[in-house]
Amino acid sequence: MIPSIQLFFGLLLGLSPRVTDPYTRQPGIDAIHYAFELSLNDSTDQVEGRASVALRFAKPGVTTFWLDLATVTAEKGMAVVDVSLDGAPLKFVHAGERLTITLPAAPAVDAHRTFVVRYHGIPASGLWIGKNKFGERVFMGLNWPNLARQWLPMVDHPSDKATSEFIVTAPAKYQVVANGLRVDETDLGDGRRRTHWRQSVPISSWLNTIGVAQFSVHYAGTVKGVQLETWAYHQDSLRGPLTFEEPARRAIEFFSEHIGPYPYEKLANVESAGMGGGTEHASAIFYGQASVTDAPASGLVAHEIAHQWFGDAVTESDWDEVWLSEGFATYFTLLYTEHYDGRDAFVAGLQRSRDNVFSLEKRLPGKGVIHENLVDMKDVLNNLIYQKGGWTLHMLRGLIGTEQFWDGIRDYYRQYRDRNTTTAEFRHVMETHGGRDLKWFFDQWLTRAGHPVIEGSWSYDAASKKIVIQLSQTQPGNTYRLPLEIGVDAGGAVATKVEKIEMTQKTQRFEIATDKAPAAVRLDPNTWALIEGKLTQAASVPTGGSTRP
Ligand SMILES: [Zn+2]
Repeated sequence: MIPSIQLFFGLLLGLSPRVTDPYTRQPGIDAIHYAFELSLNDSTDQVEGRASVALRFAKPGVTTFWLDLATVTAEKGMAVVDVSLDGAPLKFVHAGERLTITLPAAPAVDAHRTFVVRYHGIPASGLWIGKNKFGERVFMGLNWPNLARQWLPMVDHPSDKATSEFIVTAPAKYQVVANGLRVDETDLGDGRRRTHWRQSVPISSWLNTIGVAQFSVHYAGTVKGVQLETWAYHQDSLRGPLTFEEPARRAIEFFSEHIGPYPYEKLANVESAGMGGGTEHASAIFYGQASVTDAPASGLVAHEIAHQWFGDAVTESDWDEVWLSEGFATYFTLLYTEHYDGRDAFVAGLQRSRDNVFSLEKRLPGKGVIHENLVDMKDVLNNLIYQKGGWTLHMLRGLIGTEQFWDGIRDYYRQYRDRNTTTAEFRHVMETHGGRDLKWFFDQWLTRAGHPVIEGSWSYDAASKKIVIQLSQTQPGNTYRLPLEIGVDAGGAVATKVEKIEMTQKTQRFEIATDKAPAAVRLDPNTWALIEGKLTQAASVPTGGSTRP
């Protein structure tokens, strides 16, 4: 997800309702498969729905459970006609955002049951219905983060993944895109067309979507075995492929070679209204219509495609750890830059991101990357989660080594693909590959607010042939444990020598042996540390405790 500018800076889009969501989980049920039959028309915004919801009963004695589905308020919302099981009607109560269903008897543990919910209404959000930039009507599913319940009866939480299908009947002038593969398209002979898509890989609720518009569809062939498609408005039939195709091709190649196989059955890049930025629906990524131009949208496309691996296939179990999605997409976009555009572009991106962290921390005092029991979904994203989350991955790579980092990433993807995960599980995988405890590292960078500020000086002691460096951490609060690089620049054409130190005290002295006085000594010459640092040359050798690197 790259939100529109407003959301990017911590404000909420006017069109999203402010839903409070300490989500109550239901350990007794597990969603297995959803089939949504939806009927759309051009004369009203009414949606007619028939949802078949297959659940597995995970505990004994479950006689009531609920699906998330918004009721009608202020003329928008969903009204339920009936709920049935094998053709027999069931008792239900539809109140607030819950459709509570009562069973005559508890199914056996592990039993699968498919419930049918018939309903209709005008979506208050979740399915955006309106005019696109060319004044043409479109229908766009935008469920982030918990708006699926506004038009689809579901277990609307990222922790319960299921497969799904959409069977959409709409006026025949529209093309319909959704997750997975298109399995049927039928002209009904009455001016309507029915399009059937099926996603056979389990995904979280908000990653389900449909896009309905007068699309031009461009089939770009396969990349690494993945069918690549562009769905742009018919007026953008040339601009759509120019915007999406080249960066998509490069992203699929780079990520599948470095992380593991692409997780889904196709990749469609879809031009969408009702949103800015991008939204990483599984296998059908939506992009704000303003991003469709004559030029490739490389950063945006790489970010959303990175999410297919991290965010979509490997998904945080809880919104508190949304950094596992956004921090990853942010850093993997930088890695894409490193791979295709080289180290200078990569470092420039890291430095921009670091400056961003420092200014965001001023605006979001006391905030860490991991939420503490998020109560209101309007707070789910802030740019700190993206930038500091991404930087945490970069520092992790610096700490354990690039090869170990990629080995760990591949293993993490292999273990948690199509499942949910936690920061602790990710840490455990990286500890195995890094060969060390990382609890202090994850706690320090993800739960603590702020960043280290280092002030220091260096001088050369000609008598003992040593550079003497005196460093102090001046940020408020506890001392950070900081592995750091010191660059020793001999001057002339000689390459900078890099020494590794680890700072563990508020004030610390380090010595580096070198035969002649250096031209310059620099802190973090290779941009591995999220620090604000200043190292100046002192007039004379400082005195104090000595620590060898
Ligand atoms: Zn994102």
